[in-house]
Amino acid sequence: MSLPASPVIIALDYPSMDAALCMADQLDPSRCRVKVGKELFTRAGPSVLEALHGRGFEVFLDLKFHDIPSTVAGAVQAAAEQGVWMVNVHASGGRRMMEAARERLEANSLTTHLIAVTVLTSMERGDMVGIGLDIEPIDQVERLAGLANSCGLAGVVCSPQESSRLRETCGETFFKVTPGIRPACSDNDDQRRTYTPKEAMDAGSTYLVIGRPITQAKDPMAALMGIEKTLVTDSPDR
Ligand code: C5P
Repeated sequence: MSLPASPVIIALDYPSMDAALCMADQLDPSRCRVKVGKELFTRAGPSVLEALHGRGFEVFLDLKFHDIPSTVAGAVQAAAEQGVWMVNVHASGGRRMMEAARERLEANSLTTHLIAVTVLTSMERGDMVGIGLDIEPIDQVERLAGLANSCGLAGVVCSPQESSRLRETCGETFFKVTPGIRPACSDNDDQRRTYTPKEAMDAGSTYLVIGRPITQAKDPMAALMGIEKTLVTDSPDR
């Protein structure tokens, strides 16, 4: 099966394997990738990865590992050995943790993309102060993205608002994987500052994590194709 050229990663935010697979069965694995997060994985376990891989999907396992270096390296290896396409860790775990994870993949010839979460986009300036950081979130994002880059990670999860700055500081090929995307005319749900798919790609995003605008659409593949169409036209989609 050919691999998807589309930058879209569809968030399978479901509380059961049945519900996740019911959605996956409406999607074309040659046109998109899927993301499995903490709730689905904690409920369904590795068998959900097996089921998605069996259907031909490339999977981003979004478990945001954060622990001592050897524990995170072991978890990243376990994820990669289950065949996931991408896995992530918290950059705030530091250099030794990120390097241990990357080196473990390399030592085992595992090609899974390893990326880092910088600052959770739910955190504002006041939350930063609460954890002892008297710094603007964007400055901490830039610092942690630079650290992840220098540890040899493939990229970061970030807000589309941060993509253009990280494109300058970490380069074009460093992945910027961005949630918080809403096509024009769609509901913002609980997302606050959203970008359209085209705005996010223009800002430098590499991959777009999109959930409800696709998974709650009457026809999820039609919604995905509608989004793809906005990416290839020159006209603004808002
Ligand atoms: O449905 P929606 O498009 O809002 O889903 C976005 C996905 O990206 C969800 O899985 C959400 O947990 C995840 N995410 C996010 N914002 C972040 C990090 C992850 O929305 N900062």
